[in-house]
Amino acid sequence: MSRPPWLADAARESPWSELSVVVAGIGVSGFAAADALVQLGARVTVVDEGDGDDQRERANILEILDATVRLGGGATAELPAGTQLVVTSPGWRPTAPLLVAAADAGIPVWGEVELAWRLRDPATPWLALTGTNGKTTTLRMLTEMLRASGLRVGAAGNVGEPVVSAVMDPVGHDVLAVELSSFQLHWTHSLAVRSAAVLNIAPDHLDWHGSAGEYAAAKGRIYQGVETACVYNVADPATEQLVRDADVVEGARAIGFTLGIPAVGMVGVVDDVLVDRAFIAERQTSAAELGTVDDVQPAAPHNVANALAAAALARSVGVPPVAVRDGLHTFTPDPHRVATVATIDGVRYVDDSKATNPHAAAASLQAYESVVWIAGGLAKGAVFDELVIGARERLRGVVLIGADRHIIKEALGRHAPDVPVIELSGTDNMAMDRAVQAAAEAAHAGDTVLLAPACASMDMFANYARRGDAFAAAVHRHDGH
Ligand code: ADP
Repeated sequence: MSRPPWLADAARESPWSELSVVVAGIGVSGFAAADALVQLGARVTVVDEGDGDDQRERANILEILDATVRLGGGATAELPAGTQLVVTSPGWRPTAPLLVAAADAGIPVWGEVELAWRLRDPATPWLALTGTNGKTTTLRMLTEMLRASGLRVGAAGNVGEPVVSAVMDPVGHDVLAVELSSFQLHWTHSLAVRSAAVLNIAPDHLDWHGSAGEYAAAKGRIYQGVETACVYNVADPATEQLVRDADVVEGARAIGFTLGIPAVGMVGVVDDVLVDRAFIAERQTSAAELGTVDDVQPAAPHNVANALAAAALARSVGVPPVAVRDGLHTFTPDPHRVATVATIDGVRYVDDSKATNPHAAAASLQAYESVVWIAGGLAKGAVFDELVIGARERLRGVVLIGADRHIIKEALGRHAPDVPVIELSGTDNMAMDRAVQAAAEAAHAGDTVLLAPACASMDMFANYARRGDAFAAAVHRHDGH
């Protein structure tokens, strides 16, 4: 079956019922994509190697809706005959045999976000953001700012509702705020949003993308075709380079965010006030006040940066300064992101279990003057030298846990040999209690005990949330003593 000529410019009103589509993966986004395609009348086959309870449950629903579902070993080995389009889940690597077969046969492969873009209401602007760290936080801040200005906001993407579900929502939105991972961006082709931000770029997921260059290039796609504002991080020149490399609509502007004093065309900070020198008419000579650093919860530097990025995106669609501040006030941080658990004997205990890579941990370490740092877990091939060099002046001591703790220990030995290190080998239920105990003994009044592991958690815990919960429980038990 040949590729229908309309597919290249497919939109909601296209004759989808003529199309045979394979959806690769029956996770949250694959399910949403299949559901949308069935609603449009397409012939849909969903394939997934897994056949656990979750997959079966989703398969049952899709079968009732008239999709064909193939689950289990071998289900994805071959591309079904007659396939004209593949919609893939973000978790699938480009090297998956089914995707390679599609590419070889000249069959287009879209991600669920590309599908959503095709099915969107063209009257609804999209504000999109990506970055190695801070995506979810920034998206939630942005959503609150847009809401505070009275807009009906859809928030979707990487960890929330699939973008295609938001687009198919009959309620409709005035604006869509979208968080995109590098995986999702890899599979988008025609996405061209109103304004976009790249928060930061540190090496991550290199096993998936193949190289740091490919990873950055995937993130850079978010700027492609931008109409109003490409928001970049002044402190991270790689993000500005991506703006320069992007093909944008004539008149689109590059807007920097900075924790320093903003130049014209930027948002930044002056004497603890968040200011806009980008979206006001008199920006050559003055600035608009958007709020203060204390309006940001928690006011750690990286989080202020997130707030400024969100503000720039919001301001690019005309959100007034007062709604930026109101949005920051209604924003509540998600758990396990620099969350203060308790203060005991003058020592603050902070749970940043979500810091699962060195770049994230480096950011939260910068937020405190004197830190007893609890770190370790699965390093995922990361290196820790830069992190240790940047943080060593602040380290009162370090408590290391988890499978790859020796990698951090070696970096500490190289760059911070005078910092006391306590290494704990246990992985049992009491391991976190021992870590908290050791950290408490090392800490002085005024210090912060910071769980910012810089590593994934799965060697000791089901996920980062459980790790953070274990830390909080251990801190409370310590408090009881
Ligand atoms: P993501 O959705 O990108 O994983 P989150 O908002 O969930 O990001 O934050 C994850 C972790 O990344 C936080 O716990 C914090 O340690 C760190 N972080 C958040 N914002 C930033 C930032 N702008 N720069 C560096 N690290 C950050």
